[in-house]
Order: sequence, then structure tokens, then C-alpha cells
Amino acid sequence: MSKIRRDVDDLTGQRFGDLTAEEYLGGNVWRWRCTCGKHRDARASYVKAGRTTKCMTCAKSGNRRTRDTKYFIGEVVGKLTIIDKDLGGLWTCLCACGLTTTLTTGQLAYRRQCYFCDEVDKLLQDNLL
Ligand SMILES: [Zn+2]
Ligand SMILES: [Zn+2]
Repeated sequence: MSKIRRDVDDLTGQRFGDLTAEEYLGGNVWRWRCTCGKHRDARASYVKAGRTTKCMTCAKSGNRRTRDTKYFIGEVVGKLTIIDKDLGGLWTCLCACGLTTTLTTGQLAYRRQCYFCDEVDKLLQDNLL
């Protein structure tokens, strides 16, 4: 690769994330076509680094992948079955004991049963000791 073309790589037709490079606009900015068919102008460096992966419409539509998506509705975590997720990112879980409990993703990472079951376990342990 020659030094002159170093900052203007020909990316035409190359795909990063959901974006495919269509046309060089200058100043390291390319016109990209998203998988949904819409266009977006963005710096090649941003797209190549993964900071821009789709058009504005897709980026706003909420289907982006977040850390939260490692859990899904219907998944069983210990005695808990995930039955719902609210807009705030809280998971509603049905425990094997029949109670429902609401947990954050962080809590779900280590909890395996509801708080009531925790209390029952404590009482049982107290009685055994
Ligand atoms: Zn799109
Ligand atoms: Zn329980």
C-alpha cells in the first residue's frame, strides 16, 4: 500500500457490521448502505473500529446488542425462570416456589432463587444447627 493512499483505503463493497461502503465522499467519510437499505455517511475510522455499525434508524430502533441480551425470556437460571423483561431492563423471574421476583441483570448473574427461598434456606439452616 503506497503512502499516498494510506488514509484513503478503497473500501468500496467492504462490509463492517451492517454497513457496506458505497462511495467515498472525502475527508475519510464514506457513504454506507445499511442492511435495511438506508444510507448513512460516516467516517471510515469509526465504522472500522466498530463504533458505527448501522444506520441511524437501526441504531435507534433498539435492536442493538447489549450486555443484557445474554439472558432471554424463558431461560432457566437455577430455580428461577425468566418470564418477562421491562423497558428499564429489569427481569421478572418466576421461582420454583411459585413467587415472582424482579431482578437486575447484575443480580441475575449470581441469584439462583427468590428472596423468600433465601429466607427459607436460612431458617432451615438455623434449625439444623
Ligand atoms: Zn439500517
Ligand atoms: Zn422461591
